[in-house]
Amino acid sequence: MAWRCSGDSNQELVDNLYDAGLIKSPIVKDAFLKVDRADYAPHNPYKDCPQSIGHSATISAPHMHASAIEYCLAHLSPDKERRVLDIGSGSGYLTHILAEMVGDKGTVVGLEHIRELRDLGEHNAQKSARGRQLLEAGRIKFRHGDGRKGWVEDGKSDWDVIHVGASARILHEELLDQLKAPGCMFIPVDDEHGIDQSVWRIEKDAKGEITKQRLFGVRYVPLTDPPRGS
Ligand code: SAH
Repeated sequence: MAWRCSGDSNQELVDNLYDAGLIKSPIVKDAFLKVDRADYAPHNPYKDCPQSIGHSATISAPHMHASAIEYCLAHLSPDKERRVLDIGSGSGYLTHILAEMVGDKGTVVGLEHIRELRDLGEHNAQKSARGRQLLEAGRIKFRHGDGRKGWVEDGKSDWDVIHVGASARILHEELLDQLKAPGCMFIPVDDEHGIDQSVWRIEKDAKGEITKQRLFGVRYVPLTDPPRGS
């Protein structure tokens, strides 16, 4: 499915993702159209595949980013002051799209444990006038830290949506605790043998009850200790 969505321009890539049903909602489509993947992917930005961005990290395929947003859609609407944590922000592409989703009142924090990749996300966002505007307004922030512990920003550690862009060995309690009620987390987790991985959608309802749904098998880079010196 994935390779079929590749295009020759950002518009064509997004149209193909929409026509294939990988982007389902017009509001998600609009957010993808506002962000040129060429600012974030080093080569062939309109190919629907993951790519190396250095430091053993990859920018995920656009169809993976689309499904992450679709699965958390109910918690990204701009009617409230949304707070979103993007753990393993890497290229910064999804961080930027999430900021387009949550609108003027929202804040999206991209969190990286490799300092150079934290800087890469910010550098990529600065390539467009829109990205610079979002950074200056504090609607996108790139931070350096270990995502397994969650994150505190502006004295607050409660998040409407937590997206995890690397595969966790376990479902970290700290992340469950930091999810708002209601809130939603999209997280790849290793299976019990540590060979395969699956994406899980974790939903916390208004009463704090947690529901875990296994979505599909994936291959992500691991959510780990940082390399020495990072
Ligand atoms: N969403 C990014 C994915 C980058 S790959 C994109 O599409 O561009 C996964 C990222 O997770 C890597 O950049 C890696 O450095 C980061 N990562 C791995 N373990 C981490 C941890 N414990 N805390 C924060 N980031 C981590």
